[in-house]
Amino acid sequence: MLGYRIYFNGDKFAIDEVATEVQTMPDDSTTMWFANKKSAVYAVEHHNANNLKDVKKCKECGEYFWQTDEERIWFTDRNMKVPCRCYSCRKKKH
Ligand SMILES: [Zn+2]
Repeated sequence: MLGYRIYFNGDKFAIDEVATEVQTMPDDSTTMWFANKKSAVYAVEHHNANNLKDVKKCKECGEYFWQTDEERIWFTDRNMKVPCRCYSCRKKKH
């Protein structure tokens, strides 16, 4: 299946201009695929309009991953450091 990819480029979300073969991504990846360009463009606008505090860069592998407000609150409530590694790197450690 062909699709348009949106991804976080370190500053904001961007869209691949050309539809390419859809690949499977890890669940925590910030990369998303859309079947048509219209919905991909809409998603880019939506993500860039909301601020980007939810996206963090993994300290270990450099991949971008989501960090939700709920997750951040969960850690700060327990006086724990908010994770700076992506889910796959955290999983590998345990
Ligand atoms: Zn990582």
